[in-house]
Amino acid sequence: MNKTVSVLGATGSVGRQALDVARERGYTIDFLSANCDYTSLEIYAREFKPSAVALADPGAASELKVRLADTGIRVLVGSEGILEGIRKSVSDVCVNAILGEAGLLPTLAVIDSGKRLALANKESLVIAGDIVMSAAKKKGVEIIPVDSEHSAIFQSLKSGRREEIKRILLTASGGPFFGKTKEQLRSVTLSETLAHPTWKMGKKITVDSATLMNKGFEVIEAVHLFGVPADRVDVVVHRESILHSAVEYIDNSVIAELSVPDMKMCVQYAVDYPVRYRSEGRTLDLFELGSLSFSRPDRDAFPFLDLAREAISLGGAMPAVMNAADEVAVEAFLSGRISFYEIFGVVTETFGALTYAKGSHTLDAILSLDKEARAVAKSLIK
Ligand code: MG
Repeated sequence: MNKTVSVLGATGSVGRQALDVARERGYTIDFLSANCDYTSLEIYAREFKPSAVALADPGAASELKVRLADTGIRVLVGSEGILEGIRKSVSDVCVNAILGEAGLLPTLAVIDSGKRLALANKESLVIAGDIVMSAAKKKGVEIIPVDSEHSAIFQSLKSGRREEIKRILLTASGGPFFGKTKEQLRSVTLSETLAHPTWKMGKKITVDSATLMNKGFEVIEAVHLFGVPADRVDVVVHRESILHSAVEYIDNSVIAELSVPDMKMCVQYAVDYPVRYRSEGRTLDLFELGSLSFSRPDRDAFPFLDLAREAISLGGAMPAVMNAADEVAVEAFLSGRISFYEIFGVVTETFGALTYAKGSHTLDAILSLDKEARAVAKSLIK
């Protein structure tokens, strides 16, 4: 059956790959959103002819309105416009590929509208996992993860029942600085950081992969998606990014999903689940590969793995605080205001200053602590 799909964050790395899948699979695109890239969104709007598009940046939205005046495509303005577009969209599935905290309210709007959520915005679950999961349960909405590890876990969970899970083995590429000591991390540069060994991704997530914050987020994401406590999610460094994660069951069977790393597979699976369709992507050649390697992460050199576990065990708004501080710190690193190593300090100090956030569970309180954490992180950078 041909699906009607909306793509949020359509001009980012995952969004563009989702549109590649739409092209290959012939999905109808009903709604597209982006932050401010009106040039790309105009091209996609003309190609896919959605009924509406939205840009978070109001100035960019005005420009797009002028450019699309001849098309009859509605142009919605600002964050409110994105939420309106989600509500009015008639799509079967919404792919949320928005970056960062900005993806949370759209996630909740998709759930509220009753559409399937193909979730690439892991921050929705990091910041407000309890709220997102209980809203989805109440509405009977399916959340199918697009994150490659969680897609692998989701698929591996088809082999057994939830109560039969012993632990989840969450694989990590280890990033460009795998094997470096704490001392060596002090002198790494921006260009070294942006050279990810196996995945081609946006800059924010590439930095998060280098600090292992991304893996910390993914532990939290797994806890919410699969209802498994954090101490039963083990991070395994696997440099080749071929085995995308696994589930160990109580009978000691380990079920994993393997493939050539390709986000398009994950998007296609999430949209078309439970049906699998032929993919034009590369096939996995085990003979060519020869061997796969696995090792333990260095929790001392990369303290964000333990920080993420602490955040989820403290609960409340602590994961949101950690995420907000990380968004600010990574932006400062990308613009050359702090070093790679200082990201650890900014996030850890902000986290330590806001531990009272553990008692906050409502959406409003979490969003206000998100703002507070950003202000604290910014003051540390100055
Ligand atoms: Mg991932």
